Amino acid sequence: MNIISSKIMTHADMQNLQVKSKYKKVGHSFGLLKSVGKQYCHKCGLIALNNEISRWAVGKGCNYHEHTAWITTLNRLTKMRN
Ligand SMILES: [Zn+2]
Repeated sequence: MNIISSKIMTHADMQNLQVKSKYKKVGHSFGLLKSVGKQYCHKCGLIALNNEISRWAVGKGCNYHEHTAWITTLNRLTKMRN
């Protein structure tokens, strides 16, 4: 029960996040991670997996986790697996 409720942010939390967030898109710098055969970013360490959350993060740049939609996107996409 607590796990589910802690995932959901209140509207106040969202506004607070937007105030704190200083998101500015910085493009990834991908290179091949030979050990797993995947593209990964030298700057932020993101590994581009073939799933929706990875594609979203790739599109948003290195500071994707500072994007105002990050938490809601994460919640939305992780909820689909439950
Ligand atoms: Zn990056």
